[in-house]
Amino acid sequence: MKLYKLMKKPPFFLSVSNWITKKDNPIKSGPHSRRAVIIPLLIMQYGSIAAKLKTFGSLRDYFVTSLKEMHESAKNIKKNPHMGKKAMDNKTLREMEDYAKELGVLSIGYTKVNPNYIFKDFEILYDSAVVLTMEMNKELIATNPSLECSQEIFRTYAGLGVAVNKIADFLRSKGYNCQPSPAIGGDINTIPTAQDANLGCIGKNGILVTPELGPCVRLAAIFIDVDNLPIAKKSEHMWIAEFCKTCNRCVKACPAGAINEKAKLLADGTRVYINLEKCAKPFSDGCSTCISSCVFTGGHYNKIKEAFNRRELKKVLNH
Ligand code: SF4
Ligand code: SF4
Repeated sequence: MKLYKLMKKPPFFLSVSNWITKKDNPIKSGPHSRRAVIIPLLIMQYGSIAAKLKTFGSLRDYFVTSLKEMHESAKNIKKNPHMGKKAMDNKTLREMEDYAKELGVLSIGYTKVNPNYIFKDFEILYDSAVVLTMEMNKELIATNPSLECSQEIFRTYAGLGVAVNKIADFLRSKGYNCQPSPAIGGDINTIPTAQDANLGCIGKNGILVTPELGPCVRLAAIFIDVDNLPIAKKSEHMWIAEFCKTCNRCVKACPAGAINEKAKLLADGTRVYINLEKCAKPFSDGCSTCISSCVFTGGHYNKIKEAFNRRELKKVLNH
């Protein structure tokens, strides 16, 4: 039995559905939405026993924080002020962004949420999203496979949980309704949503490749009842998908052969290269080779783009 696919709905204590009132008008998942993948269950089922015991002990505090923040993010929708305030001035937007940076957020983007990215049978309150990235320390990630690497990943999961709830408190204090969606226990597939928000492009490693740090980031979001966010018109980073086609460095480096060279196209329109079941055991042993081996992790986005553009130009001229 595939435990990680068992959850048809979020558990009651993590579900916004428990706190929705008549004032709310939730948006349901789209017809092509996929099921949520419960990472801790995936690890529990496929990870090695030794790794599970060792890892659980050292990550316990981050798990507890993440669970607490997941619960808060759902429950606190009852604190929404319902003042009918739907426009945000530039000063408040800047204040929110500055506060997010103080909380350890690396980059921020804005988009409308594609209903097909809401997990199947989940619901969200607002379709405008503030999408956030948080840096993972690349030196710690480079120690993989290691406990230090796992700790760094779960530190950012917990850190993003804290950050989205604090930013939500700030937004509510300014009169806005919102719903935080933490990195663990979120309500949507944040990776394509972050791509829509112009924060990066989904790489073959299945992770958002960002201009700042490549895939060395984690993601979360806040849904907000605001009509005038500076929504991204288009993603400027889609050239990375073309680059990935011939790069394949993570495909070759993956110790489990869990990254396929060719993508599987899903009904929600996203492309998937990763076999999660093959990945789960090495991941539970602290693997993140697909992050540390990615050419973008060094942060040389502009240089790689220039070289890519030169190569593409050469191809055109040679035809
Ligand atoms: S975490 Fe490790 S096993 Fe999983 S896809 Fe990345 S490189 Fe492969
Ligand atoms: S290593 Fe290469 S193929 Fe893999 S995500 Fe990074 S750029 Fe794409």
